Amino acid sequence: MLADRTTLTQYLIEERRRYPGASGELNALILDIALACKAISRAVAHGALGGVLGNAGTANARDETPKKLDVVANDLFVRCNEWGGHLAGMVSEEMEAPFEIPAQYPRGRYLLVFDPLDGSSNIDVNVSVGSIFSILRAPNPGASAAVTDFLQPGSRQVCAGYAVYGPSTMLVLTVGTGVHAFTLDPLLGEFILTHPNLKIPHVTSEFAINASTSRFWEPAVRHYVDECLAGKPGPRGKDFNMRWIASLVAETHRILMRGGVFMYPHDARNAAMAGRLRLLYEANPIAFIVEQADGRASTGRERVLEMAPADLHQRVAFIFGSRTEVERLEQHHRDHNLREYDAPLFGVRGLFRAAI
Ligand code: MN
Ligand code: MN
Repeated sequence: MLADRTTLTQYLIEERRRYPGASGELNALILDIALACKAISRAVAHGALGGVLGNAGTANARDETPKKLDVVANDLFVRCNEWGGHLAGMVSEEMEAPFEIPAQYPRGRYLLVFDPLDGSSNIDVNVSVGSIFSILRAPNPGASAAVTDFLQPGSRQVCAGYAVYGPSTMLVLTVGTGVHAFTLDPLLGEFILTHPNLKIPHVTSEFAINASTSRFWEPAVRHYVDECLAGKPGPRGKDFNMRWIASLVAETHRILMRGGVFMYPHDARNAAMAGRLRLLYEANPIAFIVEQADGRASTGRERVLEMAPADLHQRVAFIFGSRTEVERLEQHHRDHNLREYDAPLFGVRGLFRAAI
């Protein structure tokens, strides 16, 4: 049954052969990350039977109450990756400061940045969750990483990926040579290449946004969504579908598989906060994957991968997916954000009322 199949290990070794100078350390690191994802997949699959549902009970440093599985997943990432000698340091959404590689292990030449469990509000209702990771080069290989070492623009990532724990577990990966997806064979315990060279279609009629926050949106985003909702008789000339899973990994996976656009825009609830999603743990790795799949990833104002991070836990507005839709949204940010948009979505002069 494996005769015409490629495992993750085989894919990585064949990829490395194309670059004679490569050391193989990156491959070993990716396989350690894949092991963490397999272990998390097992914990997620056991669900209530494993006693891992519900809150961990202790608020973290950012006053969010992590789920038990957030803590379990973070620990699995740390344990699988601390000993290999490939890392100078790692940091995650769940850790206030970078994790110091224990003294007994050598420091390596890479940095690992991760969101151990994305979409964790979905755990207790048995909806897909995932893990997101990003690998950077350590500015000081062989030495313990400092906080500033992690503050590199996303364009410097050497690898990014995510695992989605859905009806099947998949690992989606880029090392800068396209995006490839592997499906976990749970009996073999191996990721098998099932979706080589994923490309996001440029044209779509599906968008994803949390519409309950529409009253806080900027004019550019309201304008875009209104155009979509106007459907066939509207300026877009076609009907759109809306999706919202509230799990970034699951939204990304759908968009990679069949196109679409995802928006978590800046909104006026907290003007000081640029957005909701984290630049290092979420936006950068997803943006790298999306661009490698021929899509586009933006804050609406700039390309995500060009942003210079100022803080480990920095948040950004995040818009990504099918190229033509993201470009349209960027154009709207240039054209429609300067004055107040006068057709609020559910307001008196909005499309719904106007159509009556
Ligand atoms: Mn997340
Ligand atoms: Mn998370």
